[in-house]
Amino acid sequence: MGGTSLENRRSKGWWHKTGAFRLFTSVVPSIHTETTPFLTLLFTSPPWNRFKISWQHFDHDISGLSIYTDGSKFNNNTGCALVVFRDGIEVHHLLCKLNPEATVFLAELKAIEMAVNLVVSQSMVNAEIISDSRAHVDTAGNEAADAYAKLSVGNDSIDCKLELPKAILKIFLQQDTLQQWQVGWNSSLKGRAVFDLCPKVHLKRLHGNFYINQLITGHGALAQYQGKFFGKDDFCSCGKAVEDRLHLVFHCKRWQGLRDKWFSA
Ligand SMILES: [Zn+2]
Repeated sequence: MGGTSLENRRSKGWWHKTGAFRLFTSVVPSIHTETTPFLTLLFTSPPWNRFKISWQHFDHDISGLSIYTDGSKFNNNTGCALVVFRDGIEVHHLLCKLNPEATVFLAELKAIEMAVNLVVSQSMVNAEIISDSRAHVDTAGNEAADAYAKLSVGNDSIDCKLELPKAILKIFLQQDTLQQWQVGWNSSLKGRAVFDLCPKVHLKRLHGNFYINQLITGHGALAQYQGKFFGKDDFCSCGKAVEDRLHLVFHCKRWQGLRDKWFSA
């Protein structure tokens, strides 16, 4: 424990900062045999479904069985691990490489699930699952779980493919929708005047008003539009070109002062 007494650490708020918690696995066998929804929920729900697990700060006690869990994500590789200590001696560990889309939070959860499975399958009694999801406690168990989790990330093959998190799915769907929209916008025969100025689709709201709308669409008071519909002179008063919106916005010398002032950068 690094020579710092438990009382000292408590008085400094150390336990709160480390985020080390114990999940009381001694309740798991009873839950399992009584077939309450807990385990069913844990193993069958989509990963983003939330439900409460009782957590408690704990006094570290190296006697008995302690299962430390940790997840890791590095360079788009994700993995998790558990390590079992009996009376302070490492006796077993388990690594699991996950699919790259899995978040580190899901990796942490997967490690806890592995620990719960181990407790149930080995009929462990009074085992502690110690999850260190927010920071690393300087115990051998947490250090070992951290090291194994990092090791799992480097494995070649994926051991377990988790469902995509809801947030990632939303990002994928949005990217796909934008891509389809862009393809349609590129090839459409409609709205080409707007396309000239806004070729790239995006989700930001297009700012518009009476004047900007005329420039974007080419409709309104522009000489070219007036000439086309009312037979008026379509030449710009600068005498250099037809007064269409591209001439007005990008080239006409009459508006160079405004261009310099607002768009010089
Ligand atoms: Zn002009």
